[in-house]
Amino acid sequence: MPKKVCPICKAKAPVEQYRPFCSKRCADVDLSKWLGGDYAIPAVEPPDEFEIMEAVEAARKEGQLPED
Ligand SMILES: [Zn+2]
Repeated sequence: MPKKVCPICKAKAPVEQYRPFCSKRCADVDLSKWLGGDYAIPAVEPPDEFEIMEAVEAARKEGQLPED
């Protein structure tokens, strides 16, 4: 059975509580990498301005929004 090491520091063996990391510190490092965009994360694109304007216009035409 291969000996597993922490994927962050590659040194200490992971502990059960923070698997696959050796410690909370390394788990936090990994999390910050995710949050920092070091990994490619498929993001949900917000609707762009044009789509928002179209939706507002459609709502106005249907009488759902007052004219301003
Ligand atoms: Zn580590």
